[in-house]
Amino acid sequence: MIDRTTIDKVIDTANIVEVVSDFVTLKKRGVNYVGLCPFHDDKTPSFYVSPAKNLCKCFACGKGGNAVHFIMEHEQLSFPEAIRWLAKKYHIEIEEKEMTAEEIAQHNARESLFVVNEFARDYFVDTLHHTEDGRNIGLAYFRQRGIRDDIIQKFQLGYSLNRNNAFAKEAESKGYKKEFLVKTGLCIENADGNLRDRFWGRVVFPWHTVTGKVVAFNARVLQSNAKVAKYVNSPESEIYLKRKELYGIYFAKQAIIKQDKCYLVEGQMDVISMHQSGVENVVASSGTSLTLEQIRLIHRFTKNVTLLYDGDSAGIHASLRGIDMLLSEGMNIKVLLFPDGEDPDSFSHKHNATEFQKYIQENEEDFIRFKARLLLNDAKNDPIKRGELIADISQSIGQIPDRILRFTYTQECASILNVDERLILNESEKYVKRRQEALLDRMQKEREEQAKPANPLNANPPIVDTTTTFNGVPVESVPIPSNEDFIPIPEREDVPPPPEEMLPPHQTFILASDREKAEFYVKEKELVKLIIRYGELPFCKVADEDGQEKELTLIEFISADLQQDDLQFHNPLHRQVLTEGMTHVHDKDFSCSHYFLTHPNQELSRMAADFMSERYELSRRYEMEPEKDRIRFMVPQYLLSFKIAFIKDEMKHTLSALTSPDVTNNKEEAEKIMAHYHELSQILNDITKRTSRVVM
Ligand SMILES: [Zn+2]
Repeated sequence: MIDRTTIDKVIDTANIVEVVSDFVTLKKRGVNYVGLCPFHDDKTPSFYVSPAKNLCKCFACGKGGNAVHFIMEHEQLSFPEAIRWLAKKYHIEIEEKEMTAEEIAQHNARESLFVVNEFARDYFVDTLHHTEDGRNIGLAYFRQRGIRDDIIQKFQLGYSLNRNNAFAKEAESKGYKKEFLVKTGLCIENADGNLRDRFWGRVVFPWHTVTGKVVAFNARVLQSNAKVAKYVNSPESEIYLKRKELYGIYFAKQAIIKQDKCYLVEGQMDVISMHQSGVENVVASSGTSLTLEQIRLIHRFTKNVTLLYDGDSAGIHASLRGIDMLLSEGMNIKVLLFPDGEDPDSFSHKHNATEFQKYIQENEEDFIRFKARLLLNDAKNDPIKRGELIADISQSIGQIPDRILRFTYTQECASILNVDERLILNESEKYVKRRQEALLDRMQKEREEQAKPANPLNANPPIVDTTTTFNGVPVESVPIPSNEDFIPIPEREDVPPPPEEMLPPHQTFILASDREKAEFYVKEKELVKLIIRYGELPFCKVADEDGQEKELTLIEFISADLQQDDLQFHNPLHRQVLTEGMTHVHDKDFSCSHYFLTHPNQELSRMAADFMSERYELSRRYEMEPEKDRIRFMVPQYLLSFKIAFIKDEMKHTLSALTSPDVTNNKEEAEKIMAHYHELSQILNDITKRTSRVVM
């Protein structure tokens, strides 16, 4: 855990122009900088950076915030990871909250494995370029496969010498412990206690995590020798679980986000060749059939996936079932077949980037249609096979969470297969029901789980990745949200309604979202915006109980005014701003904007960034200044209109509750509601009386 002082220090030091400039070419425009937005396909510079506010914002897609938000979004890092990233950039030492001895040991062990892997990667890369065998055998092989030198460097491809302990000797002589060399699987311990290399005599492909750390290696033999396996992988370890990794994800994530699409290929050479062709949004599950973890990893960046298959791939049929899993995760799946005898690797060598991309765009086909046609071609007129085919397609359709999409596919497949729609509909509904039941089951289990007393062992999140380099800069990172954090929220229609007894009591008859459209909510946001910008500024003088003159800050004034009428903000986040701001407003040098911009609660700091940066003010800073002078008038006005709108809204909803059948049949309940209504109208009366005396 990083302590708050360090977080503050990092955010204060990080210069937004410098941080953004690492990724975006910025041009000065007035007091700000502008550039092409890295988060959407930007044609005209929409990305504004304000050095004065230390904030950035895209005025087309809305992304931005402070330096931490920018790094989180751009590098797809968690908050603590982004803090560490920036701390490294600015050479700020991270103060950790204390960890237990056990946590430290675990943390260090994992860190050591990454350190050893990185040493190995550097060693293999160095061997490839700077030894005679490396150049004559390894480099020659890559070049003969048509891979350009810049791509060899980008993917950190390497070579392990054709001696079975060359790496082990080097590593041990550099002081790397045997324990970690064995645990990472780089070396194997012989019976006599000596180490031998796992990858010797092979070209080596490092595997990177989504944040660029080396978790594993895959190595290919060069001589066609029947006695040894063509490919050798790192064994699974504390840091490497095969089912969680995708080859190329680190190099692809930006392109996937930008194109909002991910290509999935079969092998790592396909990934590398496609990069060389300029198609960078591509990953491979390499050998394993696709797992749920891998699907969710892709889903962090996009829901659009196109599967690329060799023209003569025998793997298509085998992988069909795995694709249903993609459907059930709510992904949009397309399929592309290369011409007979071609794979992405060979195809990319025969065509330039434009042709390659054009081919994909013109030939990719919707998965369900593809599957229907493929199976129909197999079944021909065999009635049994046709029956199986309908069941199979219906099952795929039944996996799709979105009902409208299911309906569209049902219609299309009925037409392709030349059968009645109802046949597919009935069949697919079985699978929909089954999934709903499974979901109910899971919800039930989760409820039971939550009811159990908390397990102290689970109190701390696991410490995952530790050290790596990014563009040559070592980067440390801490707990990464597990893939579980990225489970897509099921479509509403798939969530069964909660049982009657779980429904909230009738007082909460209004949906929160309805109220956020109400007039009062606009005013509420205006007030919170003023608190975040100017909360600590002295606002007015009042007399306290002893008749002493006392100065109130802006936030204190708002808080007192709301309290007077026993009102509070509707949005919990807004309430948090008020409470926390009130707690700290008399701290030395306290600034609301600084406090909330650097708040560890991401929702809060994002909101603060949003409230601090508006186009109008970013581009015309000079005209913003008068706002400070106007707040004396703005605040009471906003407060008044907030209160009036809020109470009117509350009254409207209270009245509408009276007409609900539950209430009309229940006299006691109806009286309670009427009493509440009168109370509200009394407050409204008070407010208008009070304010009519005040000249605004
Ligand atoms: Zn944008």
